[in-house]
Amino acid sequence: MYTAKAYSAASASAPLASDSIPRRAPTDRDVQIEILYCGICHSDLHQARDEWNAVMPTVYPCVPGHEIVGRVTKVGSSVKKFKPGDLAAVGCLVDSDRDCPQCKKDLENMCHNMTLTYNSPDKHGTAPVTYGGYSESIVVDKHFVLKVPENLELSGVAPLLCAGITTYSPLKRFGVKKNHKVAVVGLGGLGHMGVKFSAAFGAHTVVITTSEHKKEDAFRLGANEVIISKNPAEMEKHAGTFDFILDTVSASHDLNPYLNLLKGDGTMTLVGAPEEPISLSAFSLLMGRRTLSGSIIGGIAETQEMLNFCGKHDIISDVEVIPIQKVNEAYDRLLKSDVKYRFCIDMATLKD
Ligand code: NAP
Ligand code: ZN
Repeated sequence: MYTAKAYSAASASAPLASDSIPRRAPTDRDVQIEILYCGICHSDLHQARDEWNAVMPTVYPCVPGHEIVGRVTKVGSSVKKFKPGDLAAVGCLVDSDRDCPQCKKDLENMCHNMTLTYNSPDKHGTAPVTYGGYSESIVVDKHFVLKVPENLELSGVAPLLCAGITTYSPLKRFGVKKNHKVAVVGLGGLGHMGVKFSAAFGAHTVVITTSEHKKEDAFRLGANEVIISKNPAEMEKHAGTFDFILDTVSASHDLNPYLNLLKGDGTMTLVGAPEEPISLSAFSLLMGRRTLSGSIIGGIAETQEMLNFCGKHDIISDVEVIPIQKVNEAYDRLLKSDVKYRFCIDMATLKD
């Protein structure tokens, strides 16, 4: 065991602050990584503030962070894929069953015993729960460590590990392609990656946003059209026209007006995770035989596929790089949708 510097929340109402956490010494299956960048996902805020108490209560201290890139510092004897000095990445998962039906299908993200990167019981017993990437280093089982394409800017790669895979996976699963009309609801961290992928897959891509001032950026990111959701006339113009809608919104909102935009047999997939339960008119689904579904990150093989796709197509996240000392300010700005389009922590600032 060794001690690593980190930033943690001590309670739901405490700001994040400098801390020291235990990390296990690498076992023969482990990869130890010096963290260079860690993205700030809205899930970090939900979890640090215990907003998901009903589903996954937060154990304190909580060290968030599941958009991790860094350099390998040490590997266990059975690790062949990585050596010290290599780039490496870690997303939302650090362990799973490995032999359950889901894991056997490369769907570790659907395993009943998955270990999330933070706030999951720590199977190794190093601490009560796992600690995430707001830290100088992390030790992770080799199966859950990803290869990073060498051609991409690293601060923009970090958010791919959650915002990237969480939007790539449902768009792929639905088979989004040319001639599909696809909406991405909410232009934040997840949303802006959803737009990039939908456009890269060739779909007619429409951003649905509450923020008028994001219109220009939406087009730059690859959108063909933009709808301001606060304007009912604009929404009505697109009623019954979408094949697929990806909802990335972090706060409670009425889903019915969005479902109304789907064609017959169209699908809307939720990836956003507001704390409040959803209320729905049955008719929003009955009419047009529509489907409402959900999606959770992606499996490890698909995450590697996404990273390779990004390497090939030069896709990274648009980031605002911040020092760790500004993390609480970043959380406050996230709540005001004031981010273009992902905060990413330069982890070298942890030494300051
Ligand atoms: P984010 O950067 O804060 O983006 C959320 C966006 O939602 C905002 O930029 C805003 O976009 C829109 N929005 C906010 N409040 C709204 C409201 N009241 N009504 C309508 N739109 C609103 O957050 P994120 O990091 O992308 O995460 C989004 C959600 O996905 C969070 O709940 C997060 O926990 C969840 N998540 C889920 C998974 C998964 O596996 N399913 C993975 C990661 C994150 P506009 O300004 O464009 O309206
Ligand atoms: Zn996330």
